[in-house]
Amino acid sequence: MKATIGIIGGGAAGLAFASFIDTSKFDVTIYEKNKTVGRKFLVAGDGGFNLTHAEHIDQFITRYTPHSFLENALTHFSNKDTQKWLNELGIPTFTGSSNRIYPEKGIKPIQVLNAIIDQLKSKGVKFKFNKTWTGWNGNAATFKPNESVQMDHLIFCLGGGSWKITGSDGTWSTTFKKANIKTIPFAPANCAYKVAWSSKFLDDFSGQPLKNIAVSYGKKTQKGELVITDFGIEGNAVYALSSEIQPALNLGEIVPLKIDFKPMFTETEVFNRLENSTFKNSTETLKKGLKLSKVQIGLLKNTLTKNQYTSNKTLAHWIKQFKLEITAPASLNEAISSTGGVALNAIDSNYQLLQKKSNYCIGEMLDWNAPTGGYLLQACFSMGALLANHLNTSSES
Ligand SMILES: Cc1cc2nc3c(=O)[nH]c(=O)nc-3n(C[C@H](O)[C@H](O)[C@H](O)COP(=O)(O)OP(=O)(O)OC[C@H]3O[C@@H](n4cnc5c(N)ncnc54)[C@H](O)[C@@H]3O)c2cc1C
Repeated sequence: MKATIGIIGGGAAGLAFASFIDTSKFDVTIYEKNKTVGRKFLVAGDGGFNLTHAEHIDQFITRYTPHSFLENALTHFSNKDTQKWLNELGIPTFTGSSNRIYPEKGIKPIQVLNAIIDQLKSKGVKFKFNKTWTGWNGNAATFKPNESVQMDHLIFCLGGGSWKITGSDGTWSTTFKKANIKTIPFAPANCAYKVAWSSKFLDDFSGQPLKNIAVSYGKKTQKGELVITDFGIEGNAVYALSSEIQPALNLGEIVPLKIDFKPMFTETEVFNRLENSTFKNSTETLKKGLKLSKVQIGLLKNTLTKNQYTSNKTLAHWIKQFKLEITAPASLNEAISSTGGVALNAIDSNYQLLQKKSNYCIGEMLDWNAPTGGYLLQACFSMGALLANHLNTSSES
């Protein structure tokens, strides 16, 4: 008789695990509280389905906090393997100009999800919907509505604490805590940050992007994009600094970011352009000589005094090091991902809970962090593939 596996939670991590587990050795069932799997996977597909990133795996690994935790998984199943896997499922991918990897144009997120589901069905994986995991009864998993299931292996893939509407509401963490499994409170990651914009500035610039900039905090700098919102700022250039920003905000500090509007120029080059300008005034020089956008010029005008704005030295300095203070993160529910969940020292190197043998945790429910750009899904796929490989090979011995 085959050994049994219950996958609890049908998101990116659970689906990837199911795709790689050997169903000739295991009888596999996915238990999902929603009436369908992959709701957050589909939300991730809204506005650009960034499945992974094309950068070299050595650099790729460094994007994670802590990166040592994900190194094995990412080496076992890399960004290239994700492309190969999806291609074999009939989902070709392409690499965008930012090195982000997407399904080829015209392929909708639901088609990606369905391709994975079809593969799982064809290899005999069973789906049980509307099953909310509620805890353990001895070694059995209990579900609402009333069901208790005894499995040889339980694979928890319950997700993080943001975007509760997708089903990943993090309520499982209370049950884990009661079972003496160390958990860390959820916190928003990859989230917007609050800025005290004036209402006049918002009237003019809310929703406007700041493109091709570099944002720094402490020793870390991230190139990318920001968007001005009524709440503050959002975008990949600040998401990537979350691991540095959040601890300071948690201490009640105001975090001073520095924004470089012209990362390709030195401050001296910017100054020389301003000095040698033949345009009629500073604003014309910024617009036509330095190709700053209206919102960048708006930020400078909104912040500098008239004297500062007309001093080329001061202006050049602010173009290279625009100071912006952020005061708080957005709420957990609005964040793209969360940190917290099961503490990394509560599991072994095969994601097995130290407290409960043959119970494993993978995906965003574990306490790691990564910026947007495809790194989140890649980590979930990689953990799923590595754990499946571990169970496939350990069942041989
Ligand atoms: C707006 C948005 C955009 C994003 N864009 C991207 C992107 O472009 N690229 C990228 O890499 N990442 C992106 N992400 C992040 C990515 O979607 C997540 O990191 C990833 O889905 C996490 O996968 P997971 O399997 O760990 O958890 P989830 O996908 O959250 O799946 C967890 C599953 O467990 C189920 N569940 C929870 N509790 C129970 C229970 N008690 N019983 C049974 N089932 C339960 C949930 O219903 C859910 O189906 C985005 C996220 C959001 C919110």
